[in-house]
Amino acid sequence: MPAQTQLGLMNHEELASEHERQSVTYEQLKAANLALDLTRGKPSPEQLDLAAGLLTLPGEDFRDGNGTDCRNYGGLGGLSELRAIFGELLNIPVKNLLAGNNASLEIMHDLVVWALLHGLPDSPRPWSAEPNIRFLCPAPGYDRHFAITESFGIDMISIPMLPDGPDIAEITRLVAADPQIKGMWAVPNYSNPTGAVYSEEIVRTLATMPTAAPDFRLFWDNAYAVHPIAEEFAPSYDVLGWAADAGNANRPFVLASTSKITFAGAGVSFFGSSDENLAWYQMHLGKKSIGPDKLNQLRHLRFFGDAEGVRAHMKKHRDILAPKFALVQQILDDRLGASKIASWTEPKGGYFISLDVLDGTAARSIELAKNAGIALTGAGSAFPYKKDPLDRNIRLAPSFPSLDELEKSMNGVATCVLLAATEKLLR
Ligand code: PLP
Repeated sequence: MPAQTQLGLMNHEELASEHERQSVTYEQLKAANLALDLTRGKPSPEQLDLAAGLLTLPGEDFRDGNGTDCRNYGGLGGLSELRAIFGELLNIPVKNLLAGNNASLEIMHDLVVWALLHGLPDSPRPWSAEPNIRFLCPAPGYDRHFAITESFGIDMISIPMLPDGPDIAEITRLVAADPQIKGMWAVPNYSNPTGAVYSEEIVRTLATMPTAAPDFRLFWDNAYAVHPIAEEFAPSYDVLGWAADAGNANRPFVLASTSKITFAGAGVSFFGSSDENLAWYQMHLGKKSIGPDKLNQLRHLRFFGDAEGVRAHMKKHRDILAPKFALVQQILDDRLGASKIASWTEPKGGYFISLDVLDGTAARSIELAKNAGIALTGAGSAFPYKKDPLDRNIRLAPSFPSLDELEKSMNGVATCVLLAATEKLLR
């Protein structure tokens, strides 16, 4: 049942009866014995089926266009033909883009570890030899980014995430003044979880702004580079070129993968950066690997053929995802719109919707949902140290459930959000 009127305008009696109404709905929800999961942004089985052709590739033909026997060791940088395809999509010259194994997160982890242990090409000393170092963390953001920096004791500074990217005035002020700020996490296209696309102006400023640290790095995680749910593809700006033109060639570390293009557990990752950074990276990579899984790269190359093949494939994902996102928007609107206690993002791509509920009620809403059999991402997950300062953010991941499950889950979520709000307002 929707809350018909703005909750904040109700008198005590009206609120009490609204609370009663939501409690009854909640008891019905519990009685339905649901077991639904809206936690992680995983592709659904239908999306994985789109890449079924990969399972029979590359067949007997195990050589790439350069004659490389992909069954054997070697080729640390990955197959150049596949790098050319993703270089076009990511706006990176092929020589500056490497293809790796199945997870870009692993590359990000290596980059942080090697910077800590060895320092970067332009570091005065290894990061671990500094008294303390800091990372800027646009929030809400990706929990696994924050988990990497937290696990190594790197101080995390939360930066407000706005509709066209993180608060750039705050960022430029901080990085200009503090040489201990060594990095920033960034998801430029269809960011996790708000879906924001960084504006051209913000990308340019991040690439060109003065920083006190000589070895400041943008961890430019373009995980959703080609993942629109609308008609248009968001552009992948030339962050490497703009940084180089401003004398900051080593600043961007660009990451991407086919996790949400082909198979989330068996795709190909990419790392793009300056010549100097790539030489540094490969020197360390060569100690842990004799080469990536080139057969997997080869089957991806054959499956797509060219960049247009990837775009065409992403339109099939869009056809599956767009109705799910539309359904979530519709239920949020119908159930929470009039109450005016919640707001949410309307992404044009990516995997998530970010829902802000009445301050101080996100953890309670998530707990209510859990008790009714609906798993939501943990409270505070999208913030550094898992601390949502206003306890209001909930990350919704509509990709995995079927439309029917999604409808049930989202109606359940709306009930929990309204119940938690009436509880709070009655206090
Ligand atoms: N980066 C972002 C922003 C993500 O949302 C995800 C997965 O949800 C990843 C990276 C994981 O990428 P990969 O599978 O390449 O490690």
